[in-house]
Amino acid sequence: TSVGALHNCTGIGTAMSDRDFIYVCRPQLPEADDITGYLRTIDARRLYTNRGPLVNLLEERLAREMDAPRHCVHTASSGTSALEVAILAHAGLATPERPLALIPSFTFAATGLAIERCGYQAHFVDIDPETWAVDPTALTRHPRLAEAGLIVGVAPYGVLPDIAGFEALQRETGVPVVIDAAAAFEQVVTRPAPISDTVPMTLSFHATKTFSTGEGGAVIWGDRPGQDRVTQVSNFGFFLSRECKVAGTNAKMSEYHAAIGLAMLDAFDTRKRDYAAVTRAYETAAQGHDLGGRLHLPGRVSSAYALFEAETAEGFLAAEAHLLERQVETRRWYEAGQHAQPHFAPAGSDPLPATESLSARLLGLPMAHDLSPTDVTYIVECLSEAAARTRPLPVMLD
Ligand SMILES: *Cc1c(COP(=O)(O)O)cnc(C)c1O
Repeated sequence: TSVGALHNCTGIGTAMSDRDFIYVCRPQLPEADDITGYLRTIDARRLYTNRGPLVNLLEERLAREMDAPRHCVHTASSGTSALEVAILAHAGLATPERPLALIPSFTFAATGLAIERCGYQAHFVDIDPETWAVDPTALTRHPRLAEAGLIVGVAPYGVLPDIAGFEALQRETGVPVVIDAAAAFEQVVTRPAPISDTVPMTLSFHATKTFSTGEGGAVIWGDRPGQDRVTQVSNFGFFLSRECKVAGTNAKMSEYHAAIGLAMLDAFDTRKRDYAAVTRAYETAAQGHDLGGRLHLPGRVSSAYALFEAETAEGFLAAEAHLLERQVETRRWYEAGQHAQPHFAPAGSDPLPATESLSARLLGLPMAHDLSPTDVTYIVECLSEAAARTRPLPVMLD
C-alpha cells in the first residue's frame, strides 16, 4: 500500500495545463497539535509500549464504538501483523499434513505474505463476480480441503464477506478461518458490529485506510481465550512470564501509534461527514453520464476508495490512459491479483476467471476526505470522455 507512488511526478501538470495533478490517495492524519496532549502523557509516564495505557484506551474506545465487550479489540503494529497473529492464535503454524491455506487471489499482497510467515503455502481460489468474495459454501467441497490447515476470507476494498457462511464453513470442515478485513474499519467498527466469537477478523490502520494510527492494525474477535493467545503470540510467545511457549512474533502497537489513533478518533465524526460529502459528489456527478461502466462508492466499499468497474478490459485501459493524460492519478490497488505477482507464481491455484475479469476492469479513482466537488466532477467527466472515445460510432441508416 505505497502512499502515492506517483507523488514525485512533478512536471506532468505544468506541461499540459495549470490544473493540479489529482492524486488517487492523499491521507491526512491528525496534526502535531492534536496529538501533543497524548504525547505529554507518554513523557510523564515513561511507558512506551507493551500494552501501555494509550493502547488500552484506544482498544476501549474502539470496543465502545462497536458496543462490544472490551476483549473483542486487540491492536497490532500493522494490518499484516494483525493477520499473522490472528492466524497463529487461531490456527497455529502450518503442519506437514495440512500445509495449504486456501485464499482468494483478489486481495492486496499482504494476505499471501502473512499466511507464508505462518508457514502455509498459498492455494488461490476464485471469487464471486458480484460479491467480490469467496463463496464459503463452494469451499466446503474444495478438492484440496484435506490438505488445508487454514482458510482466509477477505473483505476486498472493505466489502465484508458472508461471515455466518465462513463460521459454518469452519464448523463443518474443522479448518480454521480468519478474515482479512483490513480495509473494512467502517463496516466492522459500527453498531451492531459484525463481530464473530469463532472467526477472527483483522483490520489495518495504515495511513491509506479510513482510520489510521500511521501504521497499525487490530484483531477483532469475541473469543476471550483466543484474544489472550493473540496477546501471547504478539509478544514473543510470552504470557504472564518471560518464557516463550508458542510460535510468536513482535506485533505490538506502541503508545505513540495509539496516540495518533486516539487523536484521529477525537475528530472522526467530522471525517465521516467529509467522506459522505465526497461520496455524494461522486453520485451527483455520475448522474445522467454514460461512463461505460459503474462506480462502487463508500457505503458499499471503504471510504478510502472510489472504484470504477469498466464494462470491458478495453474500456478500463482507455479510462486509465485518458485519466492520466488529464492529470488524474488512478491505481490498480490489487494489481492483477496475487496469483499474478512474481513471488506467488509457483503457488497452486484454481482457475480464476472472475478474479481475472474483475482485476482487468476495476480501477481505483481518486478518493480523499477533502477532494473538492469540482475535482470529482472533472474526474467523472474524464471517465465519460474516455467512454465516448471507445464507444463504436452509431451506424447511420437511411
Ligand atoms: C491494507 C491491506 C492490508 C495491509 O495492511 P497493512 O496495515 O498495510 O499491513 C492487508 N490486506 C488488505 C486487504 C488491505 O487492504
